[in-house]
Amino acid sequence: MDQANILIIGGGVVGCAIARAVSEHWQDVFLVEQFPKLGMATSTRNSGVNHSGIYYPKNSLKARHCVEGNRLTYEFCIKHNVPFRHTGKLVVAANAHEETELVALKKRGEDNGVEGLRLIDAAEIRKQEPHIRGTAALVVPSTGIVSAEELVHAYARVATNQGANIVTRAEVVSLAPSGKNIRVGLRIGDQEDSQQETIEAKCVINSAGLHADEVAALLGNCSWHIYPVRGEYCEIRGPRASLINNLVYPLPHSRGLSLGVHFTKTLWATVLVGPTATYVEGKDNYEKDRLAIADFANSAKTLLPEIRESDLQLGYSGLRPKLVPPDHQGIVDFVITRDAAVPQAIHLVGMDSPGLTAAPSVAQHVRQLAAEVLG
Ligand SMILES: Cc1cc2nc3c(=O)[nH]c(=O)nc-3n(C[C@H](O)[C@H](O)[C@H](O)COP(=O)(O)OP(=O)(O)OC[C@H]3O[C@@H](n4cnc5c(N)ncnc54)[C@H](O)[C@@H]3O)c2cc1C
Repeated sequence: MDQANILIIGGGVVGCAIARAVSEHWQDVFLVEQFPKLGMATSTRNSGVNHSGIYYPKNSLKARHCVEGNRLTYEFCIKHNVPFRHTGKLVVAANAHEETELVALKKRGEDNGVEGLRLIDAAEIRKQEPHIRGTAALVVPSTGIVSAEELVHAYARVATNQGANIVTRAEVVSLAPSGKNIRVGLRIGDQEDSQQETIEAKCVINSAGLHADEVAALLGNCSWHIYPVRGEYCEIRGPRASLINNLVYPLPHSRGLSLGVHFTKTLWATVLVGPTATYVEGKDNYEKDRLAIADFANSAKTLLPEIRESDLQLGYSGLRPKLVPPDHQGIVDFVITRDAAVPQAIHLVGMDSPGLTAAPSVAQHVRQLAAEVLG
């Protein structure tokens, strides 16, 4: 049986960033991912935005890790040649009523330590984004975009170079405390041709994204339930993509469900319109009952009146791992904690947005928890 100091479950951006951080300090680090490739779940089905940290309640894990993660993500991208663009973004008030919320958002951002925030008027909006209609906007200079896929692979590459063992097509099917360790049962290979293996780990890190609640339950911890909330995108390709220069957002969703359907100029010069937010059944339900293109055109028209349904084509979708049912109000924080009954396990649950941004800062936090376990 293989022995590990640390075994990480899940090869998304969070698991790979953790693998990079812990393999700097410890040998015998394993990361296991059930799919054939890393980052195939939520980590590459998002807007690819390096968020600033303006939205989250003061002193929350989301605020702290987003602000620090934003800085660390740029630093990492520069050092490891991950494509990114430091664009800044505009959060636009569509009418005078929304301007009050914009001021509150600026204050929250400043409380969180986000620098350089400033309000601009309609004329200044037009200078930056000639096709956007709004009465005022918040300029957020630290926001940018990254290639999410290349970021995931770069974290994994650095981890591997530091000696971490990354195993794909490896699904964790059981977790059993064994003395001071945890026995991790794995199904390796494809459904038709798989074999069982066991690794004994001193510390297990549950970074299983949408399935983190089920992985915690393998240890008998049923504290959490994850609800998949689908975010769907449309895309503008070709010449009409010039309607948008950078990143343009409305005010966030009033119930804290999402940041609102926004416009993201991608690294490939197309424009993403989305994501929407709908609770769905099934943690692999990316396509059933997709919204009509007309729905995207209608919600996009508020800020971009020139947009036509014919400018849009359906894009991909992603699933947010939400910790609360549909009637909940407000932003719910990340859960990053050692297991109460099996403290050599560390759970990361509800890692929805801004998880892509926050990943390198979350990884430092988890490294401290792992140090408590390993001594
Ligand atoms: C529509 C949308 C837009 C978003 N936009 C942004 C954005 O612009 N900026 C931002 O910062 N964040 C954004 N996010 C959030 C961000 O994408 C996530 O927070 C982040 O990707 C979470 O990463 P993760 O590694 O925790 O999860 P995942 O990427 O889901 O990785 C978890 C991995 O665990 C594996 N796994 C699960 N169970 C097992 C098991 N039993 N055994 C082995 N492996 C297992 C899965 O296969 C998966 O690969 C967005 C999310 C969505 C859905």
